[in-house]
Amino acid sequence: MPRLSEVTSALATLWPASLAEGWDAVGTVAGDPDAEVRRVLFAVDPVQEIADEAVKLGADLLITHHPLYLRGTTTVAADTFKGRVVHTLIKHDVALHVAHTNADKADPGVSDALAGALGVRVVRPLVPDPTDPTGRRGLGRVCELDAPLTLRELAGRAADRLPATAQGIRVAGDLDATIRTIAVSGGSGDSLFDDVRASGVDAFLTADLRHHPVSEARENLSAGPLALLDAAHWATEWPWCELAASQLEAVSDREGWDLRVHVSRTVTDPWTAHAASAHPSPTTALAASATRTPS
Ligand SMILES: [Zn+2]
Repeated sequence: MPRLSEVTSALATLWPASLAEGWDAVGTVAGDPDAEVRRVLFAVDPVQEIADEAVKLGADLLITHHPLYLRGTTTVAADTFKGRVVHTLIKHDVALHVAHTNADKADPGVSDALAGALGVRVVRPLVPDPTDPTGRRGLGRVCELDAPLTLRELAGRAADRLPATAQGIRVAGDLDATIRTIAVSGGSGDSLFDDVRASGVDAFLTADLRHHPVSEARENLSAGPLALLDAAHWATEWPWCELAASQLEAVSDREGWDLRVHVSRTVTDPWTAHAASAHPSPTTALAASATRTPS
């Protein structure tokens, strides 16, 4: 059985901390480097429900995409919700490790997993990492569809193939428009509109899109039409957990570690319900028709 320090060294080769944004907090949050690791759980969010799941599973290591603490804290007392997570993990000898923007920028990374879930072919990063001479790392991905789809069909495919959430998929654009190319970015993609425009794609799928950036993108007709698909933040990043688990399994096989690697299927998107408007527009009607059982 490997020690935690050996596993985190392997994780550092998959998602080097040097790729993380300056404001980010990645790496090991809790855990004894000398502790042995047999069972690993991947999840998007280090919330209490996931900590409890890790304990129940008998995991020695929980690896999440989102940081537990992004800013400094002066307490991990168990009467704070984050402190309670820390207590739960430490009491049960579960280490916590975070791969956030370093996993976004890695090759393969979060948006590769999102593209894979959607069944579109990655062509290049949307925002290449200037320090990468191969041009393969970076934020978001520019992708091609194997065959053109209408925006209606693409939205249906996204609703079908991304993990089910209360939100589903919100759509902005002409449902009959032909989509051949799409930019995807796991997590909040609001800040990437200029890069999406510059890439010349027909559509952009991301999460957490706000009113004004979407409205401006829709009004900016001189830049040409751009269809927008807004999925739940969790749903755009969960596919990475499966990719990351398979990467760690490959390392485990290579090293002869025999790790047991699991992926949490608990939906930790904070939105828990969705009420369609009483008088559906074409888009809300599409949302209703695109609702399918979780994969
Ligand atoms: Zn995220």
